[in-house]
Amino acid sequence: MKIAKQLLIKGLVQGVGFRPSIYRIAIKHSVFGTVENNNSGVIICVEGNNKSISEFIKDISISTPQASKISSIEVTDLPTNGYEDFSIVKSTSKSKDVTEVSPDIGTCIECLNDIKYQTHRLNYAFTNCTNCGPRFSIIKDLPYDRPKTTMDEFPMCKVCAKEYNDIMDRRFHAQPVACNNCGPNYSLEIGGDIIKPIEHILIGTSDLLENGKIIALKGMGGFHIACDGFNEDAIQRVREVKSRDGKPFALMFKDINSASKFLNINSKEKELLTSWRKPIVLLEIKKPISTSIGIGLDRVGVMLPYMPLHHMLFEKLKTPAIVLTSGNISDEPIIINNDLAREKLKPVTDALITYNRDIYNRTDDSVCKVINRIPRVIRRSRSYAPSPVELNLHTEGIFAAGAELVNCFSIGKGKQAILSQHIGDLKNLETLEFYEESVDRYFKLFRFTPQLAAVDLHPDYLSSRFVDKLGIQSTSVQHHHAHIASCMAENNIDEKVIGVSFDGTGLGDDGHVWGGEFFICDLADYERINHFEYIPQPGGDAVSKYPWRMMTSYLIKYFGEDIIKTRPNLFENVDKKELATILNMIKQNINCPLTSSTGRLFDAVAALTGICKISTYHAEAPMQFESISNKHFEAIYSYEISDNISLKHTFVGIIDDMESGVSISNIAGKFHNTIVAIIVDIASEARDKSGINKVILSGGSFQNSILLEKSEIQLLEAGFECYSQSDIPSNDGGIALGQLAIAAKRRELKLICN
Ligand code: ZN
Ligand code: ZN
Ligand code: FE
Repeated sequence: MKIAKQLLIKGLVQGVGFRPSIYRIAIKHSVFGTVENNNSGVIICVEGNNKSISEFIKDISISTPQASKISSIEVTDLPTNGYEDFSIVKSTSKSKDVTEVSPDIGTCIECLNDIKYQTHRLNYAFTNCTNCGPRFSIIKDLPYDRPKTTMDEFPMCKVCAKEYNDIMDRRFHAQPVACNNCGPNYSLEIGGDIIKPIEHILIGTSDLLENGKIIALKGMGGFHIACDGFNEDAIQRVREVKSRDGKPFALMFKDINSASKFLNINSKEKELLTSWRKPIVLLEIKKPISTSIGIGLDRVGVMLPYMPLHHMLFEKLKTPAIVLTSGNISDEPIIINNDLAREKLKPVTDALITYNRDIYNRTDDSVCKVINRIPRVIRRSRSYAPSPVELNLHTEGIFAAGAELVNCFSIGKGKQAILSQHIGDLKNLETLEFYEESVDRYFKLFRFTPQLAAVDLHPDYLSSRFVDKLGIQSTSVQHHHAHIASCMAENNIDEKVIGVSFDGTGLGDDGHVWGGEFFICDLADYERINHFEYIPQPGGDAVSKYPWRMMTSYLIKYFGEDIIKTRPNLFENVDKKELATILNMIKQNINCPLTSSTGRLFDAVAALTGICKISTYHAEAPMQFESISNKHFEAIYSYEISDNISLKHTFVGIIDDMESGVSISNIAGKFHNTIVAIIVDIASEARDKSGINKVILSGGSFQNSILLEKSEIQLLEAGFECYSQSDIPSNDGGIALGQLAIAAKRRELKLICN
């Protein structure tokens, strides 16, 4: 007997070849009916006998494309309709609900093969199919169909249209499908010349790169600046162009084999590098590459080719790796527009490679690091955004504005949090414009009406100011509470926990600068149970550029001013005049906010041990300090815990060790162990008092591999359940998720009054 069912499938199911794969599964199980996209997901009406329908449903979770992700399948009974075949019906826009937008997907193996053998796609650099290619970067509106993308300017040729309409073809309903006859094209601009044939572009570009030239190259989510990864002079020039003193550059390697000659790659890292998301993965250097890529660091960011042009270029290149860094000047957002690239990048590079399809949504390369065998997203952008996070909270109508320095915002839909791509530092005007434009686009794209905003406690954050303009009700969220809530939300935890929130900065509810915080908290509220003791931060935010200032502040606090005379060696390489100024500021309490920041503590110790006295980029001192640490060294320094955590004895121990000739690497290792021991001690005390056994670790300081790995291991050994972040950054890029979860919880508990 025939029965009929309706399936509503939600999740990442549009723009990833989902409907065609449903079609093929239907053919396989001989069931009839229809499949369609609408704004609430994919709807399938299916008829057949009981057995074939249940097998069809089972197969859906197994056989759908790798980039799709089903969050739910709702099955309801239908009366039979008498379908005589299975068909894909046109997208409808009935409901106000919206389904997911697929992130961009790295080129698949079949497409690379087509570039070599398929007549109309020989050497065609925009080859894509339902399993790969651009998505979020080209989408303007939903439902996801070609006229609503930046492919709208390229009518399909007959051959492509045939593939697009052939259900058994891999390009069936692939919206950006294109070929040599109909799709977008690259051009190479050198001086006044414009070179069009792809073969000439590839040869020209590889010649330029091999000869130490630097080029600007349009990628998936924005422009890159590229040069030979083994040419020190060229890398130096890229540094000058980008006005980046020391910030590390990412490399793109030809393939996993060439990368593994220079880097230690474990199985988890390999999985991540070769996944369809193709993120930058921070890997341990095995064999020196170029010293100027990441000065002094033991890791370098590495990615593999993810666009056809990348693959095609490496076939010509002799070098196994190129520097591929974001195409922007200084802190501005990555450039996406051809004319702007001509204006800003062309004059400072030797050539510009661009193409005639617009990038609509800007994305940076995403950055990940594997810590304790778990991938950790550090910068969440290309191929991750705008995939949602599934929550157990009603989030509809909540807008979370995010932090300020490493901004990302979030909107709530149903029970989801949709996080924007990495936006950046809002203090930069262009970045603020990018923020405002993106907020606007997310509201439209996801049919979002803001009803409630979640903002940082800091009234001067530009994200907080932006919310003022929205004119809706808002709830303030303490920064470090947001970090913990972000980790709780990611792990679907909604109860009282012990929160360890370590980072660089964030306004506390007592008006001081927090960053080394222990909480007992839930999603709605927190109690601060301990913190690193307050130290003056001479010069406020500016101090992060001068780790020696925090060193001085700590030394004065613990040993008094005399230390400058008794231990002059500690102040080597510190300008005497500046030192006198800082001393004066501390003594007279001029522009010296108090801080409990972990980032500033690491700054101080990095300066004290001579690793980094002046920082040339964000978080350089802690990164250099981690790099040099001997993580196998087992000793710890002593410390005191009362109503705050005093590190006087730690500082005494470090200075003693330095004088008795203990290696800096061992001292750094020992310092890491000390911080881990403090975490375990305070968590244990909190457990004894409260009975809470779940510990949450979040905040930017947990990007430090040694700190996170050892904390997790030792907390587990002490019998704790320990949670940390993986898909969502533990740095301020994860703040918006925490804000959103807190606002949702407060609304649920009616703690926000109207
Ligand atoms: Zn493909
Ligand atoms: Zn075509
Ligand atoms: Fe933070």
